[in-house]
Amino acid sequence: MSYVKRLLEQQEAERHAAIEIAVAANVLARCEVDDDPIDAGVNDVEEAYKVGNAMISREDPRVAVFGKDRRKMTDTVKSVVEELRYATCSHEADFERAMSRDD
Ligand SMILES: [Zn+2]
Repeated sequence: MSYVKRLLEQQEAERHAAIEIAVAANVLARCEVDDDPIDAGVNDVEEAYKVGNAMISREDPRVAVFGKDRRKMTDTVKSVVEELRYATCSHEADFERAMSRDD
């Protein structure tokens, strides 16, 4: 495997782990239909850092990609939360439409 490919896979794995942390901290949610990460309307990135640090401390396999690198974890959580802060899924619109339908 090439160095670049390995680096991209590593970054993708870190991004996944950061999303797991944010979801565990209820900073992000997941679409009920397809599991896409979406904004939970909370925006408390500090809470996500706390949850991530606790997961690293208890060696949670979902954050194994960070090893003991807490700085890397917080940096990745920060960027993921910023990226997905206003993320929605098309299914949300479907839910709202279904709820507001008056026929
Ligand atoms: Zn969806």
